[in-house]
Amino acid sequence: MHQKITIEPFRIKVVEQIRLSSDDERRDFLEKAHYNLFLLHSDEVIIDLLTDSGTSAMSAEQWGGIMRGDESYAGARSWLRMESEIKDLTGCAFILPTHQGRAAEHLLYNRIGGQGKVFISNTHFDTTRANIEFSGATAIDIPIEAAHHRDEYDPFKGNLDTKKLEALIKQHGPENVGAVILTVTNNTGGGQPVSMGNARAISDICKAHGIRFILDACRIAENAYFIKHREKGYQAKSYREIAQEMFRLADGCIMSAKKDGLVNMGGFLALNDLDLAVQCRTVLIITEGYATYGGLSGRDMEAIAIGLKEVFDPDYLEYRIKSTAYLGQHLRDIGVPIIWPPGGHAIYIDAKAFYPHIPVEEFPGQALACELYLKAGIRCCEIGSVMFGKNDENGKLIPAAMELVRLAIPRRVYTQSHIDYVVETFRELEQERDRVHGYRITYEPPFLRHFTARFEPVS
Ligand SMILES: *Cc1c(COP(=O)(O)O)cnc(C)c1O
Repeated sequence: MHQKITIEPFRIKVVEQIRLSSDDERRDFLEKAHYNLFLLHSDEVIIDLLTDSGTSAMSAEQWGGIMRGDESYAGARSWLRMESEIKDLTGCAFILPTHQGRAAEHLLYNRIGGQGKVFISNTHFDTTRANIEFSGATAIDIPIEAAHHRDEYDPFKGNLDTKKLEALIKQHGPENVGAVILTVTNNTGGGQPVSMGNARAISDICKAHGIRFILDACRIAENAYFIKHREKGYQAKSYREIAQEMFRLADGCIMSAKKDGLVNMGGFLALNDLDLAVQCRTVLIITEGYATYGGLSGRDMEAIAIGLKEVFDPDYLEYRIKSTAYLGQHLRDIGVPIIWPPGGHAIYIDAKAFYPHIPVEEFPGQALACELYLKAGIRCCEIGSVMFGKNDENGKLIPAAMELVRLAIPRRVYTQSHIDYVVETFRELEQERDRVHGYRITYEPPFLRHFTARFEPVS
């Protein structure tokens, strides 16, 4: 193979038509959607970078597996295959299938959470935090300092601050720590990696205090890529061996298969503790389904078993991480302020720095998201004051910490020319920054306003 060029390590057997809309059509579509990209129809979108979750393209092998799926209620062949794959990967004794990651979170954190407990993480994913808080417990994020600085290079910017961890354990008492949860890669900042050294240090601290250590392993394969290429001592190991080593440092894990499982739906909880596994399994059977399928069909389990193998393919991971870095590098080259370095699955743009003339009250992230759509039909996600801002009692905005826009990259879905199209769009937006205006909210629901809020342009 040509050494300098990374190509998509697949060819395309089935295609899905993209409807190429005109500028005028998109202006109408966006107005009709009240300038909220969540309210668009997917057919009105050309390149959909809203999320990398559940949006993967499955392989011919996986589609073949779908046909072979065994739909038996108990002890299905597909379940046994998925179970043995996950046991081999995680080293855990008890595997509980669920319909997606948050169902596994609900099973676990409702058992080990509750009033008075604290959970400590590099960063809790939003459904993780919601499940912990729903149980009555408190979730505390302690990423390393570099994570707070957009432009600061750190090879493992997803790490957890172990000094703060020890201080928090002392403060709250080890008996009150429900679990330490390491999210790999750390979703925040676009999938910043966590080093094996960090995972090992956390494991040692947890063991010393008798605290449970859980891996939120949605992007464990992408994380393994960074370890092999950035951490001393891992160059000769395979990606799968690296993941296996990390899993074995923890007492259990949660995984949404909609990410590195390369499927559209699915997840699991894996545990070593028999008592806890039995408790969780009881609730699994009440809420999800029988223990050998949880919330999944046989065909789903077949596809997960295959996806968890394919995701560790070296050519796939090389393409995956390099194509994210390609987008990040090209955006940076044309002067777009992004979180640096690029993570594994997404690029985050600092919209406040891109549109310094738009005040946070007029949502610079929403403005950039709308411009991307109007210019080129690209759908992304605002992660700023629309999503996380709150209003005080006088209706004045308490803004989010940062005004970000996320370009999440679905797995095996878009080719390099699609990504070049995104880069070219930014080249034009960069020239036209001054003419862009902000937005104001005309309607918002009391909770999770970003999904259904309505906007109008500020002229
Ligand atoms: C997606 C995700 C989850 C939740 O999984 P779902 O399948 O969406 O329910 C949990 N943690 C992380 C880090 C995630 O990215």
